[in-house]
Amino acid sequence: MASSGFSQPKRSLGQNFLSDPNICRRIVAAAELGPGDPVLEIGPGRGALTSVLVGHAGPVMALEKDSHLVRFIRQEFPRVGVVHADGLEFCWEGTGGLPGLTLVGNLPYNVASPMIWEMVHRCRSWKTMLFMVQKEVALRLTARAGSRTYGALSAWVGNFVRAEYVFTVPPHVFTPRPKVDSAIVRFRPRPDPALSEAAALSRLLKVLFQQRRKQLGTILKAYWSEAIEDWCGQAGVDRRVRPEDLDPDLLRRLAPLIVCGNGGERDPKSPRT
Ligand code: SAM
Repeated sequence: MASSGFSQPKRSLGQNFLSDPNICRRIVAAAELGPGDPVLEIGPGRGALTSVLVGHAGPVMALEKDSHLVRFIRQEFPRVGVVHADGLEFCWEGTGGLPGLTLVGNLPYNVASPMIWEMVHRCRSWKTMLFMVQKEVALRLTARAGSRTYGALSAWVGNFVRAEYVFTVPPHVFTPRPKVDSAIVRFRPRPDPALSEAAALSRLLKVLFQQRRKQLGTILKAYWSEAIEDWCGQAGVDRRVRPEDLDPDLLRRLAPLIVCGNGGERDPKSPRT
């Protein structure tokens, strides 16, 4: 875990490097890799987790945005297949070519949520995702409906994965030290991911949770229909509930009901004309 000869960590790339080998081993162990499982590390940085992952018997790949660090990882870990790419623009569907893939990463905190948003619905045939994120984000990723931390990200992720809070990581194991605690979350794929409802669900969550203190009936007033009324009846939902009280499965069933007159889905932000 060399630290000399590197340029200054780039805040713009969320570079807080792990500097404690024990934590690195604990993180990799939490991925519960099976023998021969392929692994993709997101943001290997200076190789803190990579140095543990290379001890694993299966194929190890890494995706890094910083070109200096791409060169470093290629030099230091020749057996790791390094992709120089931006995780926010990556073609995650390509992971379908690596059945049983485990994704691991101490994610750049500034973009962890949007990256996870993309990965959970676009990765294919994966087995485990194990990520370090800010503790506050980990709490949102694993929050249950009805709790204060439950929001659009919780409901979205909950439609594709089973999320688990694994352990908290204190600031002193990083260089430079972040100001907040971090945490490890583990995802396993849901057998019934909301793939066909994804577009409608994404639009619905964004509009509902932008106004999370308002009642469902008020937020969706312009779209209220018999179909939504039936959904309320079947689900035992009162139109006065707030979005944070609706669990991921209820929201999945509601999403396709937000439709325009011709039967197509509408963007709930655009007023009915
Ligand atoms: N894994 C290393 C560790 O634990 O010490 C580094 C973790 S550091 C928090 C995040 C890493 O992600 C950095 O190496 C950074 O350059 C990389 N990164 C930042 N933004 C990225 C992006 N959009 N796509 C891919 N990698 C990115």
